[in-house]
Amino acid sequence: MKINKPPKNLDRVITLLKEEVRHFENSVVSKIGEIQKDPFKVLISCILSLRTQDKTTGPIALKLFKEAGTPEKIAKMPITKLKKIIKPVNYYITKSKRINEISKTLIKSYNGKVPDSFEELMKLKGVGKKTAAITMVYGHRKADYIPVDVHVHIISNRLGWIKTKNAEQSMDELMKKIPKEYWHEINDLFVLHGQNVCFTNSPKCSICAINNYCPRIGVKRSR
Ligand code: SF4
Repeated sequence: MKINKPPKNLDRVITLLKEEVRHFENSVVSKIGEIQKDPFKVLISCILSLRTQDKTTGPIALKLFKEAGTPEKIAKMPITKLKKIIKPVNYYITKSKRINEISKTLIKSYNGKVPDSFEELMKLKGVGKKTAAITMVYGHRKADYIPVDVHVHIISNRLGWIKTKNAEQSMDELMKKIPKEYWHEINDLFVLHGQNVCFTNSPKCSICAINNYCPRIGVKRSR
């Protein structure tokens, strides 16, 4: 892959964000990866977290894993029970089906293990680039990808590091611009910064640790 010139002030931005996020709680997938050290639980937590706030996802993921924390146990669980457990997360009906299907596919085709390959993960129904990257980084502890969610996508564009239309494009562009030693921390730092300061609709630029380095591209309203 061709690596382009890294963004100006990259080092400074990372240092300042590290200082800023010390006061914030880690994201659910990061915490589950850290504590449980299980790629399957990271994968399932990531699916549960799609379009759902961390404060809802965390307790529901833990409740589910208490009942069933392996592909075998989830595959055996009646889908009505699975739906009931995960009901507080958004799109729980679709997510129940996906989680059930993924568990069955892992048993049938991968010996009950989560594949240790981005390409194989992408073959699982309902797993896109973001979920595959998160599973590789937080589940398999391999920093070969930059997981890009809405926060990483928006902040990178506001900083002017990239100019992209969606998170999938952002992942490709960031991996061309950011030196590999930063890949693991970019997701953690930008997600926490986005959840607590650089809000999607109205970022809190006045208290932002990196406002001296941000041209605020595309920001129409801020605090
Ligand atoms: S200055 Fe504003 S837009 Fe830029 S990163 Fe900070 S909060 Fe986000």
